[in-house]
Amino acid sequence: MRTATKCIQSGYKPKNGEPRVAPLIQSTTYKYDDADMVADLFDLKAAGHMYSRISNPTCGYLEEKITDMEGGVGAIATSSGQSASLLAILNLASAGDHILCMSNLYGGTFNLFDITLRKLGIEFDFVDPNATAEEMQKYIKKNTKAMFGETIGNPSLDVLDFEKVSTVAHKNGLPLIVDNTFATPHLCRPFEHGADIIIHSTTKYIDGHATCVGGLLVDSGKFDYTNGRFPEFTTPDASYHGLVYTEAFGKQAFILKARVTLLRDMGCTMSPFNAYLTNIGAETMAVRMDRHSENALTVAKFLEEHPKVAWVNYPGLKSNASYELAQKYLPNGASGIITFGVKGGAAAGKAVINNVKLATLVVHVGDIRTHLLHPASMTHRQLSPEDQLKAGVTPDLVRLSVGIEDINDIITDLTNALAKV
Ligand code: PLP
Repeated sequence: MRTATKCIQSGYKPKNGEPRVAPLIQSTTYKYDDADMVADLFDLKAAGHMYSRISNPTCGYLEEKITDMEGGVGAIATSSGQSASLLAILNLASAGDHILCMSNLYGGTFNLFDITLRKLGIEFDFVDPNATAEEMQKYIKKNTKAMFGETIGNPSLDVLDFEKVSTVAHKNGLPLIVDNTFATPHLCRPFEHGADIIIHSTTKYIDGHATCVGGLLVDSGKFDYTNGRFPEFTTPDASYHGLVYTEAFGKQAFILKARVTLLRDMGCTMSPFNAYLTNIGAETMAVRMDRHSENALTVAKFLEEHPKVAWVNYPGLKSNASYELAQKYLPNGASGIITFGVKGGAAAGKAVINNVKLATLVVHVGDIRTHLLHPASMTHRQLSPEDQLKAGVTPDLVRLSVGIEDINDIITDLTNALAKV
């Protein structure tokens, strides 16, 4: 099946006489008849649900759908995209370890890594994604545990050079973690291009309707954790009476270790209700992503021609620095997000934001409605001006998330707002 079919058909599979639509199992607990059976669940000898902090059938339907779309071996639905990134790092690194990231990460991820996780003793370096493989290699240390990048950077919109970055990672025995939020598995499947672990903020296009904050951590099952760099995977874990993850779980070592230790201990799990709504949203992901991409390309071309617009950044534009990478890794569409600057700088950009009527000012991207914001004074305002620039946020940058409304109405709205500048 292609992804457009998988997003509808994968995940929940009703048996004879069961509901056709994936049901909401709003229960924390599961009833068993036999004490030994529950002991086997705790010992991980039997598969099944015991407590919804660790797993739940409705969350499972969403996990299975996205695992199948991404081509992985398992996933965990988390309470947010932030908690998916947190679990990805903590499953590989502890105090004294090091992670090499691309410098154009989403501002919240940058804060999580550079401030909060640094306080816990994990070191991070942030390298320009346009650096050569040789330059990236210089950052790798003995204690490096992973590399981390975004398929499409938020909001720099650089497309990740998967071949370059995954080659550096694998040459050094490191897994590559990729945030695939802006692309979704319909437009890009990072495991096909060398990524080993994927995180998603399902809050964005996977839900698509701005109803639920959520995240997903997905495992490709391809990375070899027995290569000597990851003793936590290959030596007995005292918190699980001596379990050795690579021996017990094979290709699912990464994702099951994350579930039975980190999700158990930290509890940043997705609520069943959010999984229920997100799963319904995910069913239309393919048609939505095709339309978002088509609308965004038309808007980007319109802005590029507009006399009041200073610059436009959209990876689907031929003029764009990431155009070649977008053709290679996003051949079916470059998603719905555009950044642009209006002549007159930040004040002129804010005037557009204040004068649109159909588009709305919200702190969000990736839902069916068109909206926009000013990252320097909003999402990225906690970053220093230098860190903002490293993340690709200039003072005049307006971020536009193009929705799936009629394209003529979106263009009319922008035309009217620009006329007022
Ligand atoms: N990754 C990217 C690319 C994002 O844009 C966001 C949020 O904007 C996140 C991760 C964090 O996700 P959440 O807001 O669901 O915690």
